[in-house]
Amino acid sequence: MLQPYGDNFVPVIPVLDKPRHTDSHQFCTDPTCGCHEEPALIGPVNQQYIDGLLTAEEATRIIQGRQV
Ligand SMILES: [Zn+2]
Repeated sequence: MLQPYGDNFVPVIPVLDKPRHTDSHQFCTDPTCGCHEEPALIGPVNQQYIDGLLTAEEATRIIQGRQV
């Protein structure tokens, strides 16, 4: 006989939700994540670049989640 669909089939999709955004690591390495386009996060990095604390390459690396 046919089992009613969904009665004993519970798909469990493990969600590996490790914190990727911390105070010291505000950009993750997931290129599809919105953090790389978040003005509130990019702003301070851009300001450090303007202040001469970071080179353009360093700022880009940080925003891409590849810490120097
Ligand atoms: Zn992210």
